[in-house]
Amino acid sequence: MQTILITGGAGFIGANFIPYFLKNNKDLQVVNLDVLTYAGNVSNLSEIKDNSRYTFIKGDICDRNLVEELFNKYNFSGVIHFAAESHVDNSIKNPDAFVRTNVFGTFNLLDIARNYWMESPNVYKEGYQDCRFHHISTDEVYGTLGEIGLFTEETSYAPNSPYSASKASSDFMVRSYFHTYRMNVITTNCSNNYGPKQHDEKLIPTIIRKAISGENIPIYGDGKNIRDWLYVLDHCKGIELVYKKGITGETYNIGGKNERDNLYIANIICEILDKELPKEKSYKEQISFVKDRPGHDFRYAIDASKIENNLGWNAQENFETGIKKTIQWYLEKYN
Ligand code: NAD
Repeated sequence: MQTILITGGAGFIGANFIPYFLKNNKDLQVVNLDVLTYAGNVSNLSEIKDNSRYTFIKGDICDRNLVEELFNKYNFSGVIHFAAESHVDNSIKNPDAFVRTNVFGTFNLLDIARNYWMESPNVYKEGYQDCRFHHISTDEVYGTLGEIGLFTEETSYAPNSPYSASKASSDFMVRSYFHTYRMNVITTNCSNNYGPKQHDEKLIPTIIRKAISGENIPIYGDGKNIRDWLYVLDHCKGIELVYKKGITGETYNIGGKNERDNLYIANIICEILDKELPKEKSYKEQISFVKDRPGHDFRYAIDASKIENNLGWNAQENFETGIKKTIQWYLEKYN
């Protein structure tokens, strides 16, 4: 049975991806390597803890000895690399952790996989020809958009935060391993995910949590910043498709075609909570504007036509259907 290394699987997207992937691929085993920063939580994976095709290893992607030992022990035939420092606000306060994990950690994994799978540039070892390294990245590498336009795979990189700069750097390392060594790499750049299991610090869990606890719901600036929201399970389906069918060396943008501004998001969550968990006044009265994030990008929006037309992927949730499911999950968590 083939074994895939998944990094950062105790975080938000990885913890949605692994159960989905194991269920859909009964012929594969998964090893989840996660150092469990504040953002990782093994209870995110409680539904698969007894699955015989799943192994959890607590460890750091930057630890060369450990990652080499894991390759030798499990003979990985693929890597799907989620592990990262992922919160823009933290990258403003503490950028060094972002450079270490996102840039050096990605390089470390890539380089170990190359040594393990390949003889020399262009030459895979016998039996390792189909081994693939899939790097999970973000649309934030493209910088910011004005009122119009969409990010395509051809858009020039223009990262604006230490987080997006570290992800852009990791994307370039991955790209270089294709062009220099012809290693079988592939990258997906996705828009903002939402759904179950996201860390409390992120926008949507914060809005729900603060609303329920009766606190002010903080919205940066004037609330007009726009993101293209992607339901996490739609993202997981896109990753699986690209991992299996994408063209080596290429990149694929994954986006939900659900551009919404932050104020709209706060308002719709409050409206749903007004129905699901009514109280005397509307939750909307708790919305309060706070000082904007430094360098806050105005708008991100993805043109997903490459993955749609070439691989047949489509987002199945729109924001209004996905947010209802998401709120149900957080109501169970927070109530
Ligand atoms: P997350 O912060 O929820 O989870 C990251 C996981 O990586 C955590 O479990 C953490 O413990 C682990 N980790 C961090 N440093 C590590 C290290 N040095 N070694 C091993 N494990 C380590 O992040 P997420 O939201 O699940 O994002 C996953 C990936 O998707 C990231 O690469 C991120 O850049 C990318 N992405 C996320 C979004 C989004 O909206 N969440 C959007 C675009 C791209």
